[in-house]
Amino acid sequence: MKRKGILVVVSGFSGAGKGTLMKQLVKSYDTYALSVSMTTRNPRSGETDGKEYFFVSKDTFEKEIARGGLVEYAQYCGNYYGTPKEYVEKQLEHGKDVILEIEIQGALKIKEKFPSALLLFVTPPSVKELKRRLSGRGTETEDVINARLARAGEEAEGIEKYDYLVINDDLDTCVAQMHALIQGAHNAPLRNEEFIETIRTQLKELAKGEN
Ligand code: 5GP
Repeated sequence: MKRKGILVVVSGFSGAGKGTLMKQLVKSYDTYALSVSMTTRNPRSGETDGKEYFFVSKDTFEKEIARGGLVEYAQYCGNYYGTPKEYVEKQLEHGKDVILEIEIQGALKIKEKFPSALLLFVTPPSVKELKRRLSGRGTETEDVINARLARAGEEAEGIEKYDYLVINDDLDTCVAQMHALIQGAHNAPLRNEEFIETIRTQLKELAKGEN
């Protein structure tokens, strides 16, 4: 039986270390495909178009929404962010587990559209550590950092909507834990409906034959 890919949503406060975690996960195991989102925010220094994001204008983004080219999109701290549809569909068909690193509104839209998506929430071990990581990045102004911390407060209200919490203390431990959660999720009945149906049909046929 060909294994189908799972849609994995990874959310977490800005500064939780999701980017590093995802890069390490994809590098360590070949079962994952990382979706590259489209955004209207400006690139940070060191970011390349097509790698971290597809950086586009507001006009281009809105055309993409109208064309139906996004699986989901949301506004975050004054900018649009969205998931291009084509890549996600193709990779799932190829049996890859597709990772969407997106914020909570998008995560909930995905859960609605794809009930079998797995939702993970990444958090640093403490808020003190979160502030340290956000400031330490040195790529954002004080205002942007404060807006992101305020947004973290709102996002914290929705954590229970996720399937698992992942505490990002040590990178390697965290990557191994995420891999175990995702691979374990493949065995949940809701992700194996076809297999379960086949077993049931075969059992019924067997029962008929014996009676
Ligand atoms: P950043 O500006 O720090 O790269 O991202 C800001 C937030 O937008 C993060 O929480 C990130 O996960 C989220 N994000 C990135 N891409 C997408 C997307 O395609 N859709 C949604 N809904 N959120 C996204």
